[in-house]
Amino acid sequence: SLANRLQSAFDKLRGRGKIDETVVNEAMREVRLALLEADVNFKVVKDFVARVKERAVGQDVMKSLTPGQMVIKIVNEELVELMGGSVAQLTMAHRPPTVIMMAGLQGAGKTTTTGKLAKYLQKQNRKPLLVAGDIYRPAAIKQLQVLGEQIGAPVFTLGDQVSPVEIAKQAIAHAKENNLDVVLLDTAGRLHIDEALMDELKQIREVAKPDEILLVVDAMTGQDAVNVAESFNSQLELTGVVLTKLDGDTRGGAALSVKAVTGKPIKFAAMGEKLDALEPFHPDRMASRILGMGDVLSLIEKAQASVDEEKARDMERQMRQGEFTFDMFLDSMQQLRNLGPFEDILGMLPGMNKMKGKMNVDEKQIARVEAIAKSMTKAERANPELLNASRRKRIASGSGTSIQEVNRFIKQFEEMKKMMKQFSGAADKMMKKSKKK
Ligand code: GDP
Ligand code: MG
Repeated sequence: SLANRLQSAFDKLRGRGKIDETVVNEAMREVRLALLEADVNFKVVKDFVARVKERAVGQDVMKSLTPGQMVIKIVNEELVELMGGSVAQLTMAHRPPTVIMMAGLQGAGKTTTTGKLAKYLQKQNRKPLLVAGDIYRPAAIKQLQVLGEQIGAPVFTLGDQVSPVEIAKQAIAHAKENNLDVVLLDTAGRLHIDEALMDELKQIREVAKPDEILLVVDAMTGQDAVNVAESFNSQLELTGVVLTKLDGDTRGGAALSVKAVTGKPIKFAAMGEKLDALEPFHPDRMASRILGMGDVLSLIEKAQASVDEEKARDMERQMRQGEFTFDMFLDSMQQLRNLGPFEDILGMLPGMNKMKGKMNVDEKQIARVEAIAKSMTKAERANPELLNASRRKRIASGSGTSIQEVNRFIKQFEEMKKMMKQFSGAADKMMKKSKKK
């Protein structure tokens, strides 16, 4: 896999503190090759490599990572970004029905995806209408009807003697009358893009005014998928892309280039012929697939966690010596927060489960207290004794709280500090006792 290749390229470069240009160049040669092999558009590769280089050179290497892992981390982050960063949502009409138009070449998976999408929408309590807009391919109507039956969704058809434009128009009226809130327009495809096909699609768009025009592309076709996406986008102004057949052994090169070349997000990924083989497209999952690196990523995550751990250990050491500053308070709040909402953390503690929901954890209150600590200067946070009346007044206005609140928090903080001292003293005694035994 790409990750393996990168790792071995880097192993000889172990032990450097900074990522220098030689390291990056070496790494990027491998990355470039792997991406080209995965059928990523060459221009996309070129830009990508340049961006990673720019970010990587001169970066400090985290203690627990090798320079190679550090570069992989950056490559991974940039891959995710290239594919859109986060999951792209479907646009829903303010006034139903939402109209979603499917487009794409013959065999790309439009009709199958229409069925899958209907099922996906049903799970979100929507009532989709499937519309048989492919009147050219023999049995296309039947295919959609079978899908509709399988998922229990109505299928709208006017046979194959009425134009797809008219079908779209009447289907939307039908949806309105029958309180169906999403109209999924299946359309015809050709083996190649031609003007007749584009004209028909443009006319359908004209009358249907779709909220989404989703291009369905076969991920197995690699570079071709990108060309198809580019020309459909320039003619139809797509709103998104569905990548199908990701269950094959494709390396995902199409996924990488489609967003980069068209600027349109990949909204769904289809991974099989079954009706539930469709899910929102996750750029991060696709990036791991391209890098082929479940292991490396979890390693990097662990490294990051151990950095936090080191910080926690430092803090513990300081607390044992009776030091507790507002900085440490903020740090520990941040670490708690990394674990998730406070209520969930409580739920994880033994015996606290029953309390969940009853014990009103006031996140707002916590946020106010954090704001107060953040409004202090560095010196004040390290040395609470500095906090005289005028400073407290400034902190209150800086944090949008009142002087009373600031006073209360500082008092609580001092109590916390006392408690910690006692606690660590008690813990020390216990340790000594148990060692004697
Ligand atoms: P259309 O011509 O664009 O409407 O394509 P179809 O929906 O008829 O699909 C063409 C073929 O691709 C059918 O045999 C589908 O079962 C198959 N197909 C569609 N999506 C996927 C997918 O995600 N994975 C696999 N393996 N096959 C798919
Ligand atoms: Mg079809």
